Amino acid sequence: MEKEAEIQSLTDTLAKFTAYIGKRLPTDVKNKQAELRAKETNPMAIEIFDVMAENQDAADKLDRPSCQDTGVIQYFIQAGSSFPLLGELESILEGATRGATEIGPLRHNAVEAFVEKNTGTNTGSKIPWLDWEILPGKDYVILDVYMAGGGCTLPGASTVLMPGQGYEGVAEFVLDVMTSRGLNACPPLLVGVGVSTSAETAARLSKKAILKPVTARNTNEQAALLEELLAEGINDLGIGPQGLTGDNTVMGVNIEWSARHPSTIGVAVSTGCWAHRRGQIKINADLSYEIISHQDVKL
Ligand code: SF4
Repeated sequence: MEKEAEIQSLTDTLAKFTAYIGKRLPTDVKNKQAELRAKETNPMAIEIFDVMAENQDAADKLDRPSCQDTGVIQYFIQAGSSFPLLGELESILEGATRGATEIGPLRHNAVEAFVEKNTGTNTGSKIPWLDWEILPGKDYVILDVYMAGGGCTLPGASTVLMPGQGYEGVAEFVLDVMTSRGLNACPPLLVGVGVSTSAETAARLSKKAILKPVTARNTNEQAALLEELLAEGINDLGIGPQGLTGDNTVMGVNIEWSARHPSTIGVAVSTGCWAHRRGQIKINADLSYEIISHQDVKL
């Protein structure tokens, strides 16, 4: 294939994939919601879980987005340094966002800051948002697409704790965010927590945490224990699906962490809502692809 044809082909594939994830939830999220429904005892919460499942079926049958807010498009890119279209990837992803906006269709959610004008294409200054990691020597790309809806983005918060506040301070911060704004994010939530040195490194890690599967268990035993305790604590608040009370407020809590400065504990929270629209795709050097997040997909 000529290079121009390759660029067009990859743009089309990624436009279709981006539109697709707005309509069908990832397999792990769907399975988790069915599991929560099965163990829920609160009648109102059971009703809400059933309505959510009906909504997903309707989105599938009607080929429409599963929530009206299709978010701001964000791509988290693990790019092989030898991927043949590495230099073109940024413009390919911008084209994919424009294409997905038409195919979806996706709601127009990119408003230029200060100008306060909707671009009408879901693209704009630094939108789609791109987060890059380089995979040295690899010739493929692993791409996470995320639709950052308004409600699920709203609880996002980050701070830097005094070192003496310790991990109790981390738990207190997460629970403060959940009790004050968790409701806005359409529970049940996937809660991402970043623990690092500073506000911005913790914030980035908290977002990466909600790209992990809802069933992920931390490789660090202490972090895994904190994930369990936070999930238990948030569920004990009784917020429930859509905030209408219930036994289950979270689909899971995932922590991403880095080594940190000894004098600070940066902590951040990001939340994914029940309509947690994210998808992961691997693009090989020959532009063949494998969809990792969803089963039985035909683009
Ligand atoms: S929080 Fe999620 S489900 Fe609720 S309106 Fe926003 S995108 Fe839709």
